[in-house]
Amino acid sequence: RKFEDAALHPVMLENVQLAGYEIPTPIQQYCLPSIAKGYDIVACAQTGSGKTAAFLIPILSKLMGKAKKLAAPRPNPALFEPGITPGVRAEPLVLIVCPTRELATQIFDEARRFCYRTMLRPCVIYGGGRVGDQIQQLSKGCDLLIGTPGRLVDFINRPHVLTLKRLKYMVIDEADEMVSSDWETEMKTIMSGGDQEEGNITYMMFSATFPKICRDLAKEHLAHDHVRIR
Ligand code: AMP
Repeated sequence: RKFEDAALHPVMLENVQLAGYEIPTPIQQYCLPSIAKGYDIVACAQTGSGKTAAFLIPILSKLMGKAKKLAAPRPNPALFEPGITPGVRAEPLVLIVCPTRELATQIFDEARRFCYRTMLRPCVIYGGGRVGDQIQQLSKGCDLLIGTPGRLVDFINRPHVLTLKRLKYMVIDEADEMVSSDWETEMKTIMSGGDQEEGNITYMMFSATFPKICRDLAKEHLAHDHVRIR
């Protein structure tokens, strides 16, 4: 199978070529068509398998068709003053939750690559980074957000910073690491996603192992007909 057969948006296919990816890895071969068809996914995948591109490429490709309509409003940069948070709340379309700053940064780098010329803006937030700087980044417009659970819940709970009410895709990466790091409560808050109507969000869970708590989260939030990829 080739990327050319995956019915990707032409801009996304160009970004794949620019990245130098010639052949989809096995996880990509299974994820691309399932995500294109709109299924929720539970995938058993290790770092190094190409799992990041396996969800980024098809999600962005699907959003591309509607990017002009969906992209977050961009405030006028001339109105920005350092240290002042404008009242623009981030309303991402895609949320990627992962356990560490290192992984968040890696996913962000890959997201920047694939967001090129899509009109969709990626942002990254994590514990240990400066809160003010991260809020300022978010307030410039954020369509795809990558974050660690603690910082995400912190920002969701602050007024006018972040809402998940426009979310279309939620990716949980290294789910087993997050529940073993005592982020169970945060994961539940995030996966409940505020006041979403049932069935509005496409969920994807990636993990090396699936302990009971991960299976329970999947059972509670994913559609019954979700695709399992090993
Ligand atoms: P990941 O498993 O997402 O951490 O990806 C591992 C590495 O593989 C990253 O450096 C990617 O840039 C690279 N990669 C992902 N997909 C492909 C592909 N189809 N061909 C070549 N390299 C890839």
